[in-house]
Amino acid sequence: MMRIENLTAQYQTITGPVVSVKDVNFQIKDDEIFGIAGESGCGKSTLLKVLYDVTRYPLEIKSGRVVLDYTDRTGKQRSLQSGEISKAWWDAISYVPQAAMSVLNPVYRIDEQFYELFRRHRAGEGEKVMRERVVQYLNELDLPVDVLKAYPHELSGGMRQRVVIAMATFLQPGMIFADEPTTALDVVVQKSILMMLMELQSRMKNTLVIVSHDMGVHYQITKRMGIMYSGSLVELGPTDDIFANPLHPYTQMLIGALPKVGDRTTREGISGGPPSLRNPPPGCRFAPRCKKARPECTQSVPEFVEVAPGRFAACHLLNR
Ligand code: SF4
Repeated sequence: MMRIENLTAQYQTITGPVVSVKDVNFQIKDDEIFGIAGESGCGKSTLLKVLYDVTRYPLEIKSGRVVLDYTDRTGKQRSLQSGEISKAWWDAISYVPQAAMSVLNPVYRIDEQFYELFRRHRAGEGEKVMRERVVQYLNELDLPVDVLKAYPHELSGGMRQRVVIAMATFLQPGMIFADEPTTALDVVVQKSILMMLMELQSRMKNTLVIVSHDMGVHYQITKRMGIMYSGSLVELGPTDDIFANPLHPYTQMLIGALPKVGDRTTREGISGGPPSLRNPPPGCRFAPRCKKARPECTQSVPEFVEVAPGRFAACHLLNR
């Protein structure tokens, strides 16, 4: 389980700090598919970096913390905080990035990249076991073993992404983060990648955290989700409930903009864009785009509160 407690993170810039994640509180549970949604520029990827403990200058945690509780390979309970979580990379927590080419080394064949991972984290289990385990795992995932002898550039974008997912899950981590895992892939490949992630999660009973701007991805795959706007969570709850009854005006607009099969009416987009994080508007940051905004919305920041069991939202309209 991962606990995110009062987390605020910022980038240091030459003109001063820019807060990109603000007062974020939530938990990611064991054995669930959790989604983080929101437009580009809402802080999703920055939040993911902090959760995955790649907080490097100019990004820094200003306040709060992230705590990862997990059981290691020997069955021992462990608890790591921000700054320590990287010790559990690959074994307990792993990451599928947006662009597969950015993690695959272009000058090594795929087999060597699997072997490197194995040697670093399973030293002592022997080369023969290593080779057998890699082939066995690709077979389990229905991936052709021929990919092992290929260089990354010889594979299609979809196959590269499958290989990266296979590497990220090879050591059976308890938690996997996937950052826009279907971006830049065609819809058929997107579906197969999502199916692969769902099957793996179902088989391993681990936790999958999907970050995507695509609400359709969340609808198809996640069980709980959080909606981010301008660095903060504005809504959180079971995905089905959120789609059936979105509470926050931003979520309502995101869902209202989705195309629906058979519905020929014009979808209404959300005008404008997220505010600058360098100079955000006062009060509720969504107020300049919110059709339901009232005078108090620009005067005070709405609290992120539990408005129904398991349902959280930050909007003044819900506190009446
Ligand atoms: Fe809209 Fe006000 Fe709610 Fe913000 S607090 S989402 S401006 S109604």
